Amino acid sequence: MDEQEKVLNARQEMDQLVVDSLKGRKIKPNVVFAKLSDLSKVMSKGVVHWSRVNSVWPLQFGLACCAMELMDFGSARIDAERKGFLLFRATPRQADVMLVAGWVTKSMIPEVKRLYEQMSKPRYVIAFGECATCGGPWWESYNIVKGIDQVLPVDVYVVGCPPRPENLFSAVMKLQKKIGGDVEY
Ligand code: SF4
Repeated sequence: MDEQEKVLNARQEMDQLVVDSLKGRKIKPNVVFAKLSDLSKVMSKGVVHWSRVNSVWPLQFGLACCAMELMDFGSARIDAERKGFLLFRATPRQADVMLVAGWVTKSMIPEVKRLYEQMSKPRYVIAFGECATCGGPWWESYNIVKGIDQVLPVDVYVVGCPPRPENLFSAVMKLQKKIGGDVEY
């Protein structure tokens, strides 16, 4: 027999066990059930993983003029739902990702942190636009945070002032790759 044919993957091995058991060979039932339970564990893990990547719920959270671009992003023109980036949620407890759209003043830091902490884990942050990334035009202002990464862990940055909704769509797909474990940061 060809060497490659001898190598069975887990599913083939499982099928073979079932076939052998039906033939009346001596295979202990607990072996079959152990394999079945392993298989169901692997399959349910896969389903959870797939649904986590393809059902990302963003928090409805616009801080400044970038929020206009965020509204455009939510329109039918971009249609982000086709990639599994779903409706904006009005409560952090139902959201996976915080899109920081606009500048953050120092007085708002406690509220932004509280919203982030109320989000369920695993949770992600996208810095949308120059203000959220580095302070933007208000870089030297006394009351604007020089980037939301000084407050929260940012997963993806979106460039531009104003940033384009298409750029955000690209960032969302990058985030999905990160959630899926396809990209290492
Ligand atoms: S990046 Fe530009 S468009 Fe966005 S909030 Fe700042 S100033 Fe406004």
